[in-house]
Amino acid sequence: MSWATRRRERNDWRLERKVVLYECSKYIQEFANIPLEARISNPQPDVIPRPSHNISRANISPYALKVLYRLREAGHRACLVGGGVRDLLLGREPKDFDVATDARPEQVYALFRNCRLIGRRFRLAHVQFGREIVEVATFRACGEIGDEGDGQTVERAKDGRILSDNVYGSIEDDAWRRDFTINALYYDIANFAVLDYVGGMADLKTGLIRLIGDPAERYHEDPVRMLRAVRFAAKLGFRLDPATEAPLQRLGHLLEQIPPARLFDEILKLFMGGSAIQTFELLRHYRLFGWLFPATERCLNHQQRHYPKTLLIRVLTNTDQRLAEGKPVQPAFLFAALLWEPFRERLQHLEEDESDANEAHLVAAEAVIQAQIRHTSLPRRYSLPMREIWEMQQRLTCITGKRPLRLLAHPRFRAAYDFLLLRAEADESAGDLAGWWTRLLAQDESGRDRMTQPAAPAKKSKSRRRRKPRSARKDAPAAPPAPEA
Ligand code: ATP
Ligand code: MG
Repeated sequence: MSWATRRRERNDWRLERKVVLYECSKYIQEFANIPLEARISNPQPDVIPRPSHNISRANISPYALKVLYRLREAGHRACLVGGGVRDLLLGREPKDFDVATDARPEQVYALFRNCRLIGRRFRLAHVQFGREIVEVATFRACGEIGDEGDGQTVERAKDGRILSDNVYGSIEDDAWRRDFTINALYYDIANFAVLDYVGGMADLKTGLIRLIGDPAERYHEDPVRMLRAVRFAAKLGFRLDPATEAPLQRLGHLLEQIPPARLFDEILKLFMGGSAIQTFELLRHYRLFGWLFPATERCLNHQQRHYPKTLLIRVLTNTDQRLAEGKPVQPAFLFAALLWEPFRERLQHLEEDESDANEAHLVAAEAVIQAQIRHTSLPRRYSLPMREIWEMQQRLTCITGKRPLRLLAHPRFRAAYDFLLLRAEADESAGDLAGWWTRLLAQDESGRDRMTQPAAPAKKSKSRRRRKPRSARKDAPAAPPAPEA
């Protein structure tokens, strides 16, 4: 073969190789653009056997294990799923343990004496062990007309929202209808392996929150998923996948369709999960906060002095700190902070023409609560102590006579005093008052008596002044702190 022929052949071969590489890169690019479901035509999961993952039964609640084993002994498939698997894989302590099974809710009910069935939209079994509840869900499918289920199909509202979701299916179906890939990992009690149908392990490794399926569609199906995306991003310090993130800023209005009671539950999870600060910042960034607390959002937007934001930030930081130290946090305290600025604004307006300060307080608190419960519910067991915390901010300004000493015995005193301290950190005008109460608390009984003694009466003038009638009196401004002993 001549040299020229060889060269031509070599060039042909090079060209051929280029074409192959080009085809491959085109394929890889196309593959990356294919939605997650379509990429996996094979429903077989990635199986991560026990030696290749870190989930140990020693870290699983004994009650969850009991439920898993009993379901298995009764011939059912039983897996740990959701936050429990996710958090264990990340080396974190799970908040709770969720079980998924092929047993129907009635079959679960028959297996456990301590079980009750709950939910209409999503029928579940709760197995109760003292204060711990293990939630057991039957594998669900997406569900089309005529699918097998609880005698129903998936019921949807006109806007795409899922109203009831009780169509049962296989474990594969169940994986695809969960929210995020990292929440769709199964720990199978049969062989202690982790099953991954949706690429959750890879996202867990790279720290990515990725919705399964088409994000906008999945948010329309259940708008609470937007809050969940933010909650997991804040709690785990993960990034949102760009496609999961993109619709958030424009779909916040969908939250208006969610029943206020469900939103209230979500708010507690958002702000009492230990990452309240990051959650708040993300909610505001994605314009979701305003759909939960419209009055507060308005105040935040038109505030000049940044006061409410700082108070709220202080309270949220404090909440995170307390939770990290294992201390309890009160929802009433949190709501008192979240709605404090709308309350203060209303009070200011009312006090301009309302002569009775107590009346103005009542009216302002009622108005703020009524406006808020149109968006999220606020059960009375929380709104009552919240009102007391607000009301006591006024009563704490009275620092002479018997009243401050009586206040010390009030069941809400500690919360009100803590609230005052945080206000003082955020707003200098409360600093002197907070300092006075801190000093009072440090005194013994006689010291407290000395501190609360009224200032020496001014010399009596001859002309006797008549008191205004009660209704015409505004609460007198607080006397300056009495000199300490
Ligand atoms: P945590 O309990 O730590 O707050 P979690 O992920 O376990 O987080 P749960 O509310 O306990 O959250 O839900 C358990 C699992 O149920 C989730 O991990 C997810 O797989 C599924 N799930 C919950 N809510 C939804 C939803 N709105 N849409 C789809 N799947 C959901
Ligand atoms: Mg959970």
